[in-house]
Amino acid sequence: MSEKKIPYKIYLSEEEMPKQWYNMRADMKNKPAPLLNPGTLKPMTFDDLTPVFCDELVHQELDDTTAYFDIPQEILNFYKMYRPAPLVRAYCLEEKLQTPAKIYYKFEGNNTSGSHKLNSAIAQAYYAKKQGLTGVTTETGAGQWGTALSMACSYLGLDCKVYMVKVSYEQKPFRREVMRTYGASVTPSPSMQTQVGRKILAEHPGTTGSLGCAISEAVEVATSTPGYRYVLGSVLNQVLLHQSIIGLETKAALDKYGVKPDIIIGCAGGGSNLGGLISPFMGQVLRGEANYRFIAVEPASCPSFTRGKFAYDFCDTGMVCPLAKMYTLGSGFIPSANHAGGLRYHGMSSILSQLYHDGLMEAVAVEQTSVFQAAEMFARVEGILPAPESSHAIRVAIDEALKCKQTGEEKTIVFGLTGTGYFDMVAYEKFHDGKMTDYIPTDADLQVGFDGIPKFPGNEF
Ligand SMILES: *Cc1c(COP(=O)(O)O)cnc(C)c1O
Repeated sequence: MSEKKIPYKIYLSEEEMPKQWYNMRADMKNKPAPLLNPGTLKPMTFDDLTPVFCDELVHQELDDTTAYFDIPQEILNFYKMYRPAPLVRAYCLEEKLQTPAKIYYKFEGNNTSGSHKLNSAIAQAYYAKKQGLTGVTTETGAGQWGTALSMACSYLGLDCKVYMVKVSYEQKPFRREVMRTYGASVTPSPSMQTQVGRKILAEHPGTTGSLGCAISEAVEVATSTPGYRYVLGSVLNQVLLHQSIIGLETKAALDKYGVKPDIIIGCAGGGSNLGGLISPFMGQVLRGEANYRFIAVEPASCPSFTRGKFAYDFCDTGMVCPLAKMYTLGSGFIPSANHAGGLRYHGMSSILSQLYHDGLMEAVAVEQTSVFQAAEMFARVEGILPAPESSHAIRVAIDEALKCKQTGEEKTIVFGLTGTGYFDMVAYEKFHDGKMTDYIPTDADLQVGFDGIPKFPGNEF
């Protein structure tokens, strides 16, 4: 078959857009371990979870047998405002690298939140609205998730309360104002509004906050305010389900041109974009229909996959959330202060953790200066200014393309470009001024986090 000329951008028509999400768990022989109640160590049931999350999302969270979920029409309509996301053939990057590899990236930065997070935000807000709730709460660190959720809530007429890590609230005022433009209330965390916030402020006056603390505040407000639930932007099974739209569109676009990738690469924070991107391809592998190399890329300063333990651990620092079995650095782990590149969560999606444990996926850790070098090269040839998080995937895509240059192999590489980096210019500035350094935690540093992983029979690691 003669190869059709591949355009710079492969779009899908509205008719070609996926109408269902795909649930990888349905095809996994070894299912991800269930969430455990931290008090009883029994699997969390529907009734345990519904005070925190809305009902339909709890169904999705617990369902590891249904392969396809219809995307409700209202969500499809919203998706049409900013999707399909283009799949771009990186001809200019290939040229720059002088590689025989064929490189594609799926660009998720074409919306105001600047990332893929809107794909799940609209779904979570939709189910909350459908249940007749009045509002949702959440936490945000860098701000992409809070922005995405504010956009989804304003579209549907839901209240949105965002607890934003205080240091980000002060350092990223523009993100905060974007959220307020979409009608969200944004509170620096820790705050005096919650019991847990007041307790933390009493114990640590002047603290600039942490994601774990913001989660604890958001959960407290959701569970103590009638008509409210809590929502989370990554890690959970339901979030990977919604993000499968990324991979389904990617596969449909490649199939149009008869292209089969060899390597699929994504950055990994909590695992939602990577899980979404790989899901239809991993489904084929799990069903024995095809083979691909999957590579998760994480920061060397927050190396959950490559140096973490596979164990049950808390999802938050406040230890109010259920226990999840995952690759973890311990819920008390905090990346070094010089870490500017995002992806700072201590744990990882249970689904991806199981796949990695079963040898179905690889992981590499990269240092931040080399990530920003890749980001800059990419921006200069492909035009898009990438988010630091996304640039982890760019780094490894370039490295794999350079290997092809050595061997002469014409591999097809697909990576996820999760978003744009306009709110990360302080990190870019550090890089340009030569002030960015790399930090790799020592084994002793990591041991401090591991010591905080709960110990109980069956949780040996
Ligand atoms: C949140 C975010 C990530 C990391 O989250 P995952 O759940 O691992 O996908 C990556 N890129 C961007 C742009 C983000 O906003």
